[in-house]
Amino acid sequence: MFTCLYKYLFKRKKPTHDKEKIYLVCLEYNDPSYMQLNRESILKQLDEPDHEWDILVIGGGATGLGTALEAVTRGYKTILLEQDDFAKGTSSRSTKLIHGGVRYLAQGNISLVMEALRERGRLKRNAPHLVKDQSFVIPCYNWWCVPFYTIGLTLYDLMAGKLGIGRSVPLSKQKTLQSLPSIKSDKLRGGVRYHDCQFDDSRLAINLCQTLLEQGGVAINYMKVTGLIKEEGRIAGAVAEDMETGQGYFLSAKVVINATGVFVDQILKMEDPEAREVVKPSQGIHLVLDERFLKGKEALMIPKTSDGRVLFAVPWHNRVVVGTTDVEKQLAELEPHAEQEEVEYIIETAGRYFDVPPVKSDVLSVFTGLRPLAAPSGTGKKTKEISRGHKILVSDGGLITIIGGKWTTYRKMGEDVIDVAVGKANLPERKSITRDLRIHGYRQGVNLQNPHYWYGSDQDQIESLEEADPALEEVLSEKLNIRKSQIIWAIRGEFARTLEDCLARRTRALQLDARESIRIAPGVAGIMAAELGYDQNWELMQVEAFTKLAENYLLN
Ligand SMILES: Cc1cc2nc3c(=O)[nH]c(=O)nc-3n(C[C@H](O)[C@H](O)[C@H](O)COP(=O)(O)OP(=O)(O)OC[C@H]3O[C@@H](n4cnc5c(N)ncnc54)[C@H](O)[C@@H]3O)c2cc1C
Repeated sequence: MFTCLYKYLFKRKKPTHDKEKIYLVCLEYNDPSYMQLNRESILKQLDEPDHEWDILVIGGGATGLGTALEAVTRGYKTILLEQDDFAKGTSSRSTKLIHGGVRYLAQGNISLVMEALRERGRLKRNAPHLVKDQSFVIPCYNWWCVPFYTIGLTLYDLMAGKLGIGRSVPLSKQKTLQSLPSIKSDKLRGGVRYHDCQFDDSRLAINLCQTLLEQGGVAINYMKVTGLIKEEGRIAGAVAEDMETGQGYFLSAKVVINATGVFVDQILKMEDPEAREVVKPSQGIHLVLDERFLKGKEALMIPKTSDGRVLFAVPWHNRVVVGTTDVEKQLAELEPHAEQEEVEYIIETAGRYFDVPPVKSDVLSVFTGLRPLAAPSGTGKKTKEISRGHKILVSDGGLITIIGGKWTTYRKMGEDVIDVAVGKANLPERKSITRDLRIHGYRQGVNLQNPHYWYGSDQDQIESLEEADPALEEVLSEKLNIRKSQIIWAIRGEFARTLEDCLARRTRALQLDARESIRIAPGVAGIMAAELGYDQNWELMQVEAFTKLAENYLLN
């Protein structure tokens, strides 16, 4: 019989309150009804009249998950509602760096860099299966570049203090070429190597969600907040709609936190249609290329491109992610589109540094995200000049909104916003414990050569599934190392509800190779339909919807 994680947790930990016991019921992970039952039990709980949550969080990206985890680990009755899938928005579309932000240091934003460097160290300690060291090399083509960046980056290292991960060093021309064998050698004078961390953004979001449930909280995807409940002038809960069934729910809460990224204004306008807009979306795109464009394990960093931006080319799951851009947008969207100019800018800039310049047909996938930047009070600032720090706002009715920040600082954002919420809702004060909280999947010393290292301790669960049913060992994609067992696991243990959930955010197929993800879509839909008890019509609709979406991740 397989290990039952929830039973194990139940024995070790006292649930924070009775209602959460429901999530600790012992269900075997190889029981196909596991996640469905879990969703059903959550829905039942949402239906309970007179139930009041301490904290209701809207939004299941990095910010909402960090906030809800902070709340539940302090012992507050917490629920998180996500309108689509967890990390469907910006939180699956980052450059995949856990970093202090060398660029912010250059802008003189010392406190933001210090905070991010501290969080980088904590996250690496708490999720070692997902957050790994990544060395970066800045190639230098003029005389002042090597000393200038060596000094600047040594300062960066010192700012990390005890949580530092390696010293920056100057490199000779020869050593630079050894580190980045595919860059142009003409006029190269040398380089500088520094260290930051890399991760997998949507995988971390899923692991945070699992941690939240294990701690006694509730999180549910495909549950959209459509209105706010106001009583005597105060926000007292939210109205939500199950996007799978259309069923509506009225949820009472002592405090509501709006962590909806670029959508925060939509929630604010539910309380006050005249509310001032507080978010400024800034679009960034990435192109994914074959690993032959970078060759090797080190990342390339261009600190100042022709128009003053930073460009990264970072190895990621045997591909290279190149980005990003910074373009102001008016519209908040879940599926933003890369603009032609952005694509050309990245191809052209990468082509200036790579020995073999990439062309559009080399692009395996293009993905686009919107930064939820806090709109500055003055006008005229370009989005690239707006601080990446976070802001917390409290409306007249007590709705708390959090905007800005980075994936790297999601935990600190959660800590700060819960401090505010506790004061506003008169909740009993309790200390934060998330600095040292291990994240689900925690495993030290994972073998990075193993294509499934990102599962951490959950690899045991997947192996158990295969032991019980060897048919699940079937490989669905050789190119992307995807096996049938991962799809079953995504449904039973990782809240996947749609084909897109499996291909975009559980296996990363869409971002790694959009064409290959389209190829395997029908097979994956078939496995999902059988597991979830859907008919062929569902399968066909899923494949059609996914193919249409994935075509936007292709350039030709
Ligand atoms: C191009 C780019 C590169 C980046 N690179 C990095 C990086 O390398 N490192 C780093 O640290 N940070 C990086 N960032 C920043 C980081 O990704 C974001 O700060 C972070 O993901 C924002 O998370 P969020 O939860 O605030 O927003 P989101 O992830 O967008 O989450 C908001 C969620 O709210 C949900 N929602 C909206 N309305 C409702 C509703 N009515 N009901 C229920 N749910 C709702 C949405 O569906 C969405 O899932 C990058 C950002 C971009 C755009």
